Amino acid sequence: MKKSFKKTFIFIGILFILLKIGTSIAQEKEKFKEISLKPSGEVKQGQTVFINIKSPEKLVNPAFVFNNKKYKLFNSGENQYSGLLGVEALTNPGTYTISLTDETGNLKDQAIIKVSEKKFPSQNIAVSKGTAGLTATQHENNQINRMKTTVTDDLLGAVPPYNSPTAGCINSVFGVKRYYNGKFSGNYHKGIDIRANKGVPVKSITDGKILFAEFFRLHGGSVAVDHGQGLVSLYIHLSKIDVKAGDKVTSGQKVGEVGSTGFATGPHLHWGLYVHGTSIDPMTDWIKPVTICK
Ligand SMILES: [Zn+2]
Repeated sequence: MKKSFKKTFIFIGILFILLKIGTSIAQEKEKFKEISLKPSGEVKQGQTVFINIKSPEKLVNPAFVFNNKKYKLFNSGENQYSGLLGVEALTNPGTYTISLTDETGNLKDQAIIKVSEKKFPSQNIAVSKGTAGLTATQHENNQINRMKTTVTDDLLGAVPPYNSPTAGCINSVFGVKRYYNGKFSGNYHKGIDIRANKGVPVKSITDGKILFAEFFRLHGGSVAVDHGQGLVSLYIHLSKIDVKAGDKVTSGQKVGEVGSTGFATGPHLHWGLYVHGTSIDPMTDWIKPVTICK
């Protein structure tokens, strides 16, 4: 009698422990289901990840951490937040964690993403003595740096896919390792070059606000458009500028014309796309495609 009582007691005990483990696993699952990533699972160097958060509670100053850097998230609905992650082209391939935090700094949730290698081509550019020594002015550098640190709370105006900025074909893709007269410049191509004739309109890819619109020594005629939430477009080498700093522009609005001002070897639009200051590849599924020159 005593023995069977003991057995029953042990059985109930084990059952209780199993039940406890079961609920704690369920609670963990419940806790870690707030982040959704697009693309999910894997991203290539130079690509962008769209992050969406559905939180069971309101978060104050939500942010996410990737590769030891913290990025702001934006309100996108009731207890919903969104943000962009630009995966730098030189990020080491491997597995990374995207951690969700709030004002308290506590970990609210996390997701895993694998960064895979993208093969970037090399390109040699023959530059004449006149253009080879061309450098940016201090003011120019300041403006470019300001552009890279601009993060505006406004929602991205339109839903992707966004338009490409000009009619033409790509003659230099993103990420190309640049050689000038056979010598590695130590840099890669932070944007795409769209070949087009001088005077072809350059249009804003989506709604935004003009950060600067002026002629620089190195970049030539330059327009930067703040699209909000850390997404910024930079159009350079323009022959003509149609907007001024502070102007609000809508998707498809003309901001200038293609040219070859500044450090350029012929008429083309250099279009740089930045996410929280990180140059990312504009040839992506959330921007209408531009064909590569034959
Ligand atoms: Zn370029």
